[in-house]
Amino acid sequence: MSKSKGLLIVYAGASGVGKGTVLKKVLEADKNMRLSVSATTRKPRCGEQNGREYYFISESEFEKLKENEGLLEYATYCNNNYGTPKKPVYDMLEKGLDVVLEIEINGFLQIKDKYPECITIFILPPSWEILEKRLKGRGTESDEEIKARLDRAKEEMEFANKFNYKILNDDADRAANEILSIINNIKNNNK
Ligand code: 5GP
Repeated sequence: MSKSKGLLIVYAGASGVGKGTVLKKVLEADKNMRLSVSATTRKPRCGEQNGREYYFISESEFEKLKENEGLLEYATYCNNNYGTPKKPVYDMLEKGLDVVLEIEINGFLQIKDKYPECITIFILPPSWEILEKRLKGRGTESDEEIKARLDRAKEEMEFANKFNYKILNDDADRAANEILSIINNIKNNNK
């Protein structure tokens, strides 16, 4: 990728930390920012739409994408595969749009390695207890899946210091505003 016109932003945080809610507010406020839609072999949750939250694809379709180098990064998370389709991200960056990749830690490590200029943001929960309560309370996963996600969350939190910015999600509006001002500052400094 040549030096792109838009910013490449990696956005991560443990499952249940409320990162989707914060990001939605950021995307609503920043009209130059787009969310990359990932491909996954996970089954859609109730209310999720193909092409909106994810491209829900089969294992063999995922393998094909990987083989054809169609993914910018990919990882397995709690027994499902997830990956970022390369072309839409390049196209958006080329147009000058800022692109957010909402991905887990292995994806973050791959992107950081390939695109060291990327901006990396990690969302922290106010406390472990709150994270646990949120994850159990949303009712979208089985007990077994919740346990796997909590185990994974513990591992992911250890990577927080590798990110450029750590944002505490004590309040979704406050956290979103903090992110918006970080992005604004970066853009002003790049001018
Ligand atoms: P969920 O199943 O809750 O939608 O996502 C599970 C985890 O996979 C989250 O941490 C999410 O950020 C991550 N994820 C979603 N899309 C991708 C992707 O394209 N690549 C990687 N590496 N992780 C992803």
